[in-house]
Amino acid sequence: MAIPDPALVVLVGASGSGKSTWAAQRYRPAEVVSSDGLRGVVGSGPADLDASTDAFAVLEAVVSARVGRRLTTVVDTLGFDTTRRRSWLTAARAAGLPAVAVVVTAPTAVCRQRNAARDRPVPAKVLAQQLRQLDVARADLAAEGWDDVVVVDTADTATAPSIEQPS
Ligand code: ATP
Ligand code: MG
Repeated sequence: MAIPDPALVVLVGASGSGKSTWAAQRYRPAEVVSSDGLRGVVGSGPADLDASTDAFAVLEAVVSARVGRRLTTVVDTLGFDTTRRRSWLTAARAAGLPAVAVVVTAPTAVCRQRNAARDRPVPAKVLAQQLRQLDVARADLAAEGWDDVVVVDTADTATAPSIEQPS
């Protein structure tokens, strides 16, 4: 299925599921607002968790400004917080921008394997907790009122959705 453009696109997925890779393959860097990236801007690096509060404050400001201008905005966070998701959706609705949630999944073993190969792997316990949070989020998404909920399995490239070209 095609994701509209412009749109608000909110990514939802565990560490190592492939969210940032998926976004980078489809969107321009300025369209992707990443909590990890902003930790690197306002903190010492993407993994500087002490910088999370400041990073999310900047993220909210960027999302609000871009969505208010009806610019395509891809929110690259874990996406597990229903309150944040609902507030981004409300902002998109107010701006008349289509709003799509993209659930990025990979089999647990693939997430573990990709995660283990990274610079700072998320501990196995944290990843297991994230996968439980993902199940809760997936159940909640249906009731939140998204224009579409797209599920991308990054271990299965055949299901990659296309993006509509602006007319
Ligand atoms: P985080 O939540 O920690 O930011 P993420 O969901 O953004 O994680 P990525 O950084 O996109 O995950 O990907 C994690 C690793 O998995 C990277 O090493 C990346 O190269 C690999 N990867 C991502 N998508 C794919 C894919 N479709 N096929 C093969 N490898 C992939
Ligand atoms: Mg990422």
